[in-house]
Amino acid sequence: VFAHLVRAPEDPILGVTVAYNKDPSPVKLNLGVGAYRTEEGKPLVLNVVRRVEQQLLNDKNRNKEYLPIVGLADFNKLSAKLIFGADSPAIQENRVTTVQCLSGTGSLRVGGEFLAKHYHQRTVYLPHPTWGNHPKVFTLAGLSVKTYRYYAPATRGLDFQGLMYDIGSAPSGSVVLLHACAHNPTGVDPTPEQWEQIRQLIRSKALLPFFDSAYQGFASGNLDADAQPVRLFAADGGEMLVAQSYAKNMGLYGERVGALSIVCKSADVASRVESQLKLVIRPMYSSPPIHGASIVAAILKDRDLYNEWTIELKAMADRIISMRQQLFDALRARGTPGDWSHIIKQIGMFTFTGLNPEQVAFITKEYHIYMTSDGRISMAGLSANTVPHLADAIHAAVTR
Ligand code: PMP
Repeated sequence: VFAHLVRAPEDPILGVTVAYNKDPSPVKLNLGVGAYRTEEGKPLVLNVVRRVEQQLLNDKNRNKEYLPIVGLADFNKLSAKLIFGADSPAIQENRVTTVQCLSGTGSLRVGGEFLAKHYHQRTVYLPHPTWGNHPKVFTLAGLSVKTYRYYAPATRGLDFQGLMYDIGSAPSGSVVLLHACAHNPTGVDPTPEQWEQIRQLIRSKALLPFFDSAYQGFASGNLDADAQPVRLFAADGGEMLVAQSYAKNMGLYGERVGALSIVCKSADVASRVESQLKLVIRPMYSSPPIHGASIVAAILKDRDLYNEWTIELKAMADRIISMRQQLFDALRARGTPGDWSHIIKQIGMFTFTGLNPEQVAFITKEYHIYMTSDGRISMAGLSANTVPHLADAIHAAVTR
């Protein structure tokens, strides 16, 4: 009965790894997927995570019963505190409802389905470009997707004027998706002053901000600094949604642990919103997984574990920043034509190199280096050993 099916294309991001895995070359390098790697090119499990997992294992009182539909209560409370800040008035006034979801993607999807069901304006504006999964998540959730200008190829920076114009022209009530920090794929974030102008515009047009926070702590190495845009919006008392992921900042990729928070006008509204979120979640996956959320809650709850986490998180962020400098220096040393300063200016896991699809194809074919066709490279996949190989490849691609 399925014989009529045509083969679906690989996911444009995950498909890069599929191609990489098939390549027998000993010098192959995967800069496609956004997952942290050590200097040795290995995935990293944080020490603090291992320690907590051991504790969980030794605790004979623990069981594997179902979590409630909205997940682990401690995890939800502590996740809201992490993103909105310990002294957040919205939290103190019980105006925030937080539900544990399946990492960042699941949080976006639950938020999208909730909006499609209960919000009067079913259009969401995404930055162009954005993470490739965003349009699919929101379309399948039942929203209609439009874009706002974000990136200026000429400066390899923010198209602030275009952004303000497009968001300013969105119909009143539209949902506006914002990357909280470390914009993926461009690595370009607004300045604090620009964030304030964006906030004023969004509030004055009665638009609804939906933050995607997949990299808190990964951009600057500081959890509070990376949450500033979210806190700026929360501080004005207005409504908003926030999707959080612990994939990158705790290295819990495969545990699928994240949270959706909705900031409401009153505690009463927040509790009714939560009751409706349950009706979205229950038929989708019933309840979220327990293991990853227990790890996160244990770390966020304990001062020593939290401090240990922030040190390990900063080390990951610093290694990425150092890779930026090393790649920039290597291109300079080769006299590679062009201004490569965007490599050190961009923020977070990715550099949007500016390489075009033909150059990317050349680099993959001749140098066995894999990246998405838009020229995005994961800085976390680089090391001191592999920077020269990548610099040679980029040099060859742009001088060919
Ligand atoms: N949003 C953005 C911008 C991302 O880059 C990612 C991860 N690549 C996600 C959300 C979701 O990731 P996850 O579902 O693994 O938390």
